[in-house]
Amino acid sequence: MNGLETEVRYVKGIGEKRAKLLNRLSIHTLKDFLNYFPRDYEDRSKLKKISELQFGESACIKAVLATDLNTSRKSGGQTVLKFRVFDDTGSLGITYFNQTYVKNQLCKGNEYIFFGKIQGDFLRPELINPAFEAVSKAGKSTGRILPVYPMISGLTRSIIIQGVEAALAAGFDELNDDLPDSLRKQYDLVHAKDAYQNIHFPKSLADALNARKRFIFEELFFLSIGLRQIKSMRQKENGIPLESLDLGVFFSALGFTLTSAQNKAINEAVLDMASGKLMNRLIQGDVGSGKTAVATACVYAVVKNGYQAALMTPTTILAEQHFFRLAPLFERFSIRTALLTGSLSSKDKANICEKAKNGEIDLLIGTHALIQKEVGFRNLALVITDEQHRFGVNQRTALMTKGTGKALAHTLVMSATPNPRTLALILYGDLDVSIIDELPPGRKPVKTALRGNLARKKVYQFLKQQIFAGRQIYIVCPLVDENGNEELKAVEAYADELKNDFADMEIGFLHGRMKPSKKEEIMCKFTSGAMKILVSTTVIEVGIDVPNATIMVIENAERFGLSQLHQLRGRVGRGDDQSYCILFTESKNEETIKRLEVLCRTNDGFKIAEEDLRLRGPGDFFGKRQHGLPDLKIANLASNVKELKDAQEAAERLLQREPGLTHPENRGIARRVKELFEKNNQSGLLN
Ligand code: ADP
Ligand code: MG
Repeated sequence: MNGLETEVRYVKGIGEKRAKLLNRLSIHTLKDFLNYFPRDYEDRSKLKKISELQFGESACIKAVLATDLNTSRKSGGQTVLKFRVFDDTGSLGITYFNQTYVKNQLCKGNEYIFFGKIQGDFLRPELINPAFEAVSKAGKSTGRILPVYPMISGLTRSIIIQGVEAALAAGFDELNDDLPDSLRKQYDLVHAKDAYQNIHFPKSLADALNARKRFIFEELFFLSIGLRQIKSMRQKENGIPLESLDLGVFFSALGFTLTSAQNKAINEAVLDMASGKLMNRLIQGDVGSGKTAVATACVYAVVKNGYQAALMTPTTILAEQHFFRLAPLFERFSIRTALLTGSLSSKDKANICEKAKNGEIDLLIGTHALIQKEVGFRNLALVITDEQHRFGVNQRTALMTKGTGKALAHTLVMSATPNPRTLALILYGDLDVSIIDELPPGRKPVKTALRGNLARKKVYQFLKQQIFAGRQIYIVCPLVDENGNEELKAVEAYADELKNDFADMEIGFLHGRMKPSKKEEIMCKFTSGAMKILVSTTVIEVGIDVPNATIMVIENAERFGLSQLHQLRGRVGRGDDQSYCILFTESKNEETIKRLEVLCRTNDGFKIAEEDLRLRGPGDFFGKRQHGLPDLKIANLASNVKELKDAQEAAERLLQREPGLTHPENRGIARRVKELFEKNNQSGLLN
């Protein structure tokens, strides 16, 4: 048996209890220890003199214990051990709290190495609870660079170190390199053996960096290969071929002239669907660029060819909006539309499913209720996902396979989150892209201002003027938490206050936990114009389109990310009137203010996304696993741009040369790619 496959509970010194904790860190076998990478390092390799120490720094000193070891007990029951040490440059106080065992391990007159953070004040610098070792035995917790691991309570660094050491001892010789020599040479990457040794126990920080560089490359490389394979597999797939038809009659019913960017996107999609191959296309355009029109044209083409289409949205409110808008439009062309959301009664649901199966519905609009098992179609040929950045790759694919069983449905994906280009490549690496880089004519950029509470009265005055001029207002309030009742109370208080300022005006409230019928009623009132002010959570963040609403007020703006604020702001500026966005914040934090000011400066979603990514990193940027990609363990899509480029280039070159990855030198790659996607439950994509 391969020693690295040994389960951790059988490893000396670990046992059942710790094994359970380790499992929570996804450490199940010795090999997993090797892949549990440090998040940082503590350089305890260099010794400093006492006179050189700086406040706040962490440092190692070699010093002689100068005083007796006296333990005292404080009133709270805390034990305190204090003593002084010296070297040839000075002396230093050391204190241990609640660590009685220390006393028995130290001896006056002996020399030790201590490591810790220099605290205290200028006159009395001090080490508190430092790590220590006798000089003769040094080298384990001092005198070296120590890895810093992500930790949970119940485990310690030394347990992980022990596990990694055991793994290296058991399996160092078995550590083959899955990257071929030629590739390693070309990108100057260290061998897997060295990389594993040095990422955990580097002799120098440079060694650690080289090890990390290798793993970052490797991770991005396998990811790029996997995405490319998905793409080329899809490209080979046959799709239902559509006959081309004249869309002119449909366009004239839209009530506006399409922009040339919209026209181009529609042409590209229609050509895809007529090609006999499967369409996998992303329509990317900033908020308000008119992506819905592109989707509807595709639906029209598909249905007029005798097939069905489905449109999936991330929120019920958005599904409803699409339904109420599109159903009357399509009805003029005898296209039958239905709405399927989680909030329907099971009887209604069953009824709709039945009709979809029989082909009595041409376009089914809904939330992820659409991908449930019961939902089937007679001849589904097109699947559209709106606001794709809210879904995962998996969800997108699940719907695709709901066709007739004979052929996969064409996929059209719409995304407003303007991903920086490098990221778009990774996120949508398996799709062809149409970009709508033009807004409908006559749009004025939204004027954005940052305000504090002091300006509130003045802002309200302005809001009233706008309402008298016939406009409507959104107020987004982060206080309405989707789960927290207490916060709901805060919103009610907010509402009452608002009613004082806006007496006689209809104000509505909307949040995610409301009954669907109530939500619908409120959205209806707002859309019709009867309701002037809509106070809401971020449920209105995506897709909502009420052109007469021209003001977006965002409370506690500092609590939102830039891209999210941009999405929210995208709810206004959808008609011909000048629109405004007012960001309220009481934050005095310079960084925060700087971040919010980006929004006041530009309306360009791409710029904002780049900035957001730079400031927050991709984790937050995409929210929790919203992107549906395999988790990245070590690479960071925001800061490893160069590595990403290299990895993509290498992946492309390799697949051109050897698409099947069956050559012995590439088998390791094939296996790792499969593992990466399988682990993330996307195996269906790669079989
Ligand atoms: P998004 O790209 O954010 O999904 P929508 O499709 O919701 O944008 O369109 C935003 C608004 O612009 C809608 O009210 C839509 O009717 C309108 N619109 C779309 N295309 C045009 C156009 N070419 N000319 C004028 N208005 C348009
Ligand atoms: Mg939209």
